[in-house]
Amino acid sequence: MDNFAGVLDHNVGRYPDKIVLTQGERRQTNREFLTRVNALAAGLRELGIGRGDVVALLLYNHLEFLEAVFALNRIGAAFLPLNYRLSPAEWEFILGHAEAAALLTEPEFADAVCGIPVPRKLLLGGSRDGWVSYEDLVAGHLGESVPVEPVGPDDLQRLMYTSGTTSRPKGVRITHTNLLAKNLGHIVEFGITGEDTTLVCGPLYHVGGLDLPGLGTLHAGGSLVVLRKFDAREVVDTIERERPTNVWLAPSMMNALLQLPDLSRRDTSSIRFIIGGGEKMPVPLVERIRAAFPSAWFADAYGLTETVSGDTFNDPGHMLSKVGSVGRPVVHLRVRIVDELGAEVPAGQLGEITLSGPKVFSGYWRDEEATAKALRNGWFHTGDIGRVDEDGYLYVEDRKKDMIVSGGENIATPEVERVLYEHPDVVEAAVVGKSHERWGEVPLAFVVLRAGAAVTAEELAAFCRERLAKFKVPAEIRFLDELPRTPSGKVLKRDLRSLPVIA
Ligand code: ATP
Repeated sequence: MDNFAGVLDHNVGRYPDKIVLTQGERRQTNREFLTRVNALAAGLRELGIGRGDVVALLLYNHLEFLEAVFALNRIGAAFLPLNYRLSPAEWEFILGHAEAAALLTEPEFADAVCGIPVPRKLLLGGSRDGWVSYEDLVAGHLGESVPVEPVGPDDLQRLMYTSGTTSRPKGVRITHTNLLAKNLGHIVEFGITGEDTTLVCGPLYHVGGLDLPGLGTLHAGGSLVVLRKFDAREVVDTIERERPTNVWLAPSMMNALLQLPDLSRRDTSSIRFIIGGGEKMPVPLVERIRAAFPSAWFADAYGLTETVSGDTFNDPGHMLSKVGSVGRPVVHLRVRIVDELGAEVPAGQLGEITLSGPKVFSGYWRDEEATAKALRNGWFHTGDIGRVDEDGYLYVEDRKKDMIVSGGENIATPEVERVLYEHPDVVEAAVVGKSHERWGEVPLAFVVLRAGAAVTAEELAAFCRERLAKFKVPAEIRFLDELPRTPSGKVLKRDLRSLPVIA
């Protein structure tokens, strides 16, 4: 098996002086990047970290995040990215569950994690008693060179916890082969070359920020421009200044960009493709973002942590004819829609989306029950409901857990959300099931209105009645200032379900 970390040595051989990483004023060539990765790898080894160890990263987006990824992989260790917006109790759960050998963090989180038992703690950008200084570790080993450790088929490239949108986060075992297959798929579908630059504005701890197409761009010899964290204005300024060719944007990020009053006057013409997805993209939002970036191919994408992201993409030739679809699978990935018994259903029929191929993970960390439920006969059961049309295009309807069953009828919540999004006063909408004596469940909508909008719940319901079957119209509409979201921007429907009713 090939170790992903070897990609960097390959790139140094081909383009040693090419600027490969940029963050603000900082620029690193391939050669400089490799020098620092080697130094860090030597330092980590000195600390006793090696093959099979898992090291957690609790960091904003810094170039050092990427150094740590390559250095850990180089010595055969895996990295574990942590959501920086989780609570200390959640970090503690994940660190303990993962049996992390070390934690690398920065001063902002140091107090919060100092009580969490982890064998070694490393600090970037500061010093603390008993902790290892990242800068000292690298400086102490500059000039050293560490060979790339060979890896086996089960060796982890990373251990990554799911967003926890529907349940407690699960540790997803991602091998080097999974990542290589994922990168290859994205390089082929998008034609990524050494000329490409990805703007990384989503969090690196999530597959969206790190892998869409992030590490795939580095794999192809391209470059990354990294923002510390998402900021809509900074995204547009950076596009004008650095001229990246592609970017991943979650729906919430797109919404934030679309709120910029001067977006249409800014020069975003360097962007060749925008990858969407992460959650269901309402069609009106897709249309608004396509209008705002007229020269870019907008590729809605479907993917999961378990498949290192980006399983299907909508291609440029079908952006208009297959609206609402998330496209066709990437090379070497197979999609099959199955019924409750696991049998494939005909084209056009709804069922559970299952996936198979080398980018599919090898199981959940220390969770045999969840692994056995998810991976059956070589197919990963995603828990998402969808259909594939006669041309092989996938349409995601809803998560199995979010689907509403009302009086025996299925309601896909994104369909109701799409109609709400069509209303000019609606900025965001999310629909969940609410129990009902007669119908079992009825739709309950949560809506965020545009500032200053005066539309009432009754008017919105009337708007829905004109566009939806009666049983799909929200039985109740509540207004919120914002929707509860995971740190990666997904709407937390389980939190909406448990919101107290304000009379
Ligand atoms: P958890 O498994 O802990 O509940 P999660 O499912 O949100 O968290 P992720 O791996 O981040 O964890 O998200 C994958 C899920 O995101 C998919 O199963 C699907 O429900 C949703 N998703 C991703 N892209 C799309 C898309 N383009 N359209 C619809 N849904 C999407």
